[in-house]
Amino acid sequence: MKTYLLPENATYYKANMHSHSMVSDGNFTPEEMKEVYKAQGYSIVAYTDHDVIVDHSDLTDESFVALTGTEYSIADHDVSPIALCGTSGADMPFNMKKVVHMNLFAKDPHNTYHTSYNPKYIWGRARNHTPDEAHRDGDDYERVLSAEGLNDMIRRANEAGFFVCFNHPYWSNNRLIDLENLEGLHSLEVYNYAADYNGGMDYCIDDYEWLLRAGKRLFPMAGDDNHNWMKETDTSFGGYTMIAAPALTYENVIDSLLAGNFYICVGRGAPEIKNLYVEDNRLYVDFSPAEAVYVNTAGRATMAAHAKPGEIFTHAEFDLKDEFIYFRVTVQDDCRRRAHTGAYYTKDVLQ
Ligand SMILES: [Zn+2]
Ligand SMILES: [Zn+2]
Repeated sequence: MKTYLLPENATYYKANMHSHSMVSDGNFTPEEMKEVYKAQGYSIVAYTDHDVIVDHSDLTDESFVALTGTEYSIADHDVSPIALCGTSGADMPFNMKKVVHMNLFAKDPHNTYHTSYNPKYIWGRARNHTPDEAHRDGDDYERVLSAEGLNDMIRRANEAGFFVCFNHPYWSNNRLIDLENLEGLHSLEVYNYAADYNGGMDYCIDDYEWLLRAGKRLFPMAGDDNHNWMKETDTSFGGYTMIAAPALTYENVIDSLLAGNFYICVGRGAPEIKNLYVEDNRLYVDFSPAEAVYVNTAGRATMAAHAKPGEIFTHAEFDLKDEFIYFRVTVQDDCRRRAHTGAYYTKDVLQ
């Protein structure tokens, strides 16, 4: 019997799961963002403006879904994770200090409820979207940059109908120990295109592996974090998420994200994963023309399939073993652009 790890012969919708519009510090209007992304083949954009939640359902139609979201920031200007800087960061420049950014995605498109609101966290144009009293849990929430403080924010978000992605840990000066103590995350932002474009950082697949090995169950995520300074698309189209859904509706997209029916792509024009299934403890992968496929596990056991030198291939097979605990798949093309799946657990799929 075949066990499909991604839905069989699925239709995939291309999504940018991290974006900033003129609602906060981006330079496209929400409508312009829809247009430029649709022109590049996208069907989904998550609007994750800083610290405000705006319902953009008016942009959703039969060819496009606008996901309701926000990016919450937590800063502690007295803490530095950089050992060379000492333990007190009080006198350090901003860029040496630790922050945490988390994306919240609303399961209901009309849910704009703020779960950790305090007007002091809202800045710039975002102040134009101050929530009324019915859409916030008071005015005095203190965001605390500690495992306890972050877990409280994650719990509140989950209880209010959101799911949470931990963003760009390198740009934020985070340490892995900061992430290992978090509970209730949906995903880790494994690829942030803007951080990569601007500084070659935040391609965090090894950190995702580390968290999996630490026993965390979470999905990988990829997004642009586009701001589009000068109204250019320099920080767009480089990191995206391919979401399998029976139809392009808000509800279907959310269900697929929660179920893990998606994979992430690193680099414009990265390979596509067509089918992924297990039959008789053997893993089958169909993909668009590529050069290599890797299977990573909870330990040193790895597997790879390569096209013959100078050639490409579109299918690979691997034998799975219980001892892997989990496995995840990477497809890589001849420009080293990659598609990554999340982790699948052998006890769920092996006979
Ligand atoms: Zn951020
Ligand atoms: Zn951002």
